[in-house]
Amino acid sequence: MELLSEDIVPEYARDVKHEAREFAQEHIAPNAEEYYRAGDYPWEILEAGQDAGLVAQDIGEEYGGRGLDVVQMLAMAEEFYRADAGIALTLQLASFGAEMLEQYGTDEQKEEYLRPLAEGEEISGLAVSEPDVGSDLAGMHTTAEKDGDEYVLNGEKYWIGNGVEADWITVYAKTADTDDRYMNYSLFIVPTDAVGYDAEHIPEKMGMRASKQAHIVFDDCRIPEENLIGTEGGGFMMLADFFNHGRIVVGGHGLGLAAAAFEEAWEFVHEREEFGRHVSDFQAVQHGLADMRLEFEAARALNYRAAEKVRDYDNPGLWAAMAKTKSTEVARDNAQQGMQFHGGRSILTDRRIARVYRDVRIPVVYEGANEIQRNLVYRQSGE
Ligand SMILES: Cc1cc2nc3c(=O)[nH]c(=O)nc-3n(C[C@H](O)[C@H](O)[C@H](O)COP(=O)(O)OP(=O)(O)OC[C@H]3O[C@@H](n4cnc5c(N)ncnc54)[C@H](O)[C@@H]3O)c2cc1C
Repeated sequence: MELLSEDIVPEYARDVKHEAREFAQEHIAPNAEEYYRAGDYPWEILEAGQDAGLVAQDIGEEYGGRGLDVVQMLAMAEEFYRADAGIALTLQLASFGAEMLEQYGTDEQKEEYLRPLAEGEEISGLAVSEPDVGSDLAGMHTTAEKDGDEYVLNGEKYWIGNGVEADWITVYAKTADTDDRYMNYSLFIVPTDAVGYDAEHIPEKMGMRASKQAHIVFDDCRIPEENLIGTEGGGFMMLADFFNHGRIVVGGHGLGLAAAAFEEAWEFVHEREEFGRHVSDFQAVQHGLADMRLEFEAARALNYRAAEKVRDYDNPGLWAAMAKTKSTEVARDNAQQGMQFHGGRSILTDRRIARVYRDVRIPVVYEGANEIQRNLVYRQSGE
């Protein structure tokens, strides 16, 4: 059964998809269970991904990357997430947010901070969410106040991928308090060894345990003014634009997970016998599988269409929100059905279906909860 077929993937994105599949089969799938149990950070797999040229490679060739575009990143994501979402998240978050540095940063910033990511020598992360605010991007509290030729950061961030492990983080902070709440934020490069930067891991998660998130506290954390990315006050707009790319890729997280749920469900019901026949012989079960497949294919068609729209800057906000919502919810629903078809065995923690079921809870929330996506779909459908 070939769910993640290449026919829907534009030809130029197929090579990287094949590379990602090979890597996932060799490095991700065989280690998924062990890393889930241990909850360890998969440093070895990350390094293997860097060596294979599959980490941080959306960074342009000028700065040492491969310049992969959003369609290629999607093709890679679905392969990685089918194998395991926790390890995949670590691989894909190693340069999370660095696209904004590439787009808006100075040449000096890019040489110093972007190139080491592309060359696999450093990792980074993106700090937006806070303990008290998540969805309201224009309501974050962390401040960055100008003091001479420095900015001084104060506040807290929560859920930050690689907040402990990274060499530097892109931080979203408040630099003004004007009536236009969308113009009050800016982005900064913050080295994790800066004085006043303190990060610790958040409590253990039930899903994606091979990825690590942090609670960061900034206590008079001083950074040079040169670490501002782009213009002061432009942070919200840069972030909104960046999330269009991110949401296409998160759609890919959903597609990989949905495919995994379907594969597991299919295999189980074709082996399991009840009432003297295979469970797959019951029409109700067949219809359940048919619905899983139908929804998966619909989501995948939408996600690839949306990826091309975002790549071509054709109403990107609308298409990214639709793709993210549909693909992550199909993953959630397929996992739910897959669990039911596994009967009591669904809840054995070492089952792949149980891991998928835990993981699908996450993409419906991160990169903007799906309610926020629906707000965007509604609003932008009328434009
Ligand atoms: C595993 C993981 C990794 C993450 N990685 C990062 C990271 O690297 N960097 C980072 O900055 N953040 C990260 N996040 C945070 C993530 O982006 C937030 O969890 C997400 O934006 C939602 O914010 P919240 O959890 O504070 O939920 P809240 O904003 O408090 O929302 C809670 C719920 O309220 C409802 N809701 C909220 N607002 C509305 C509305 N306007 N309309 C209708 N319903 C609404 C929704 O059901 C929502 O799920 C990560 C989260 C997870 C779980």
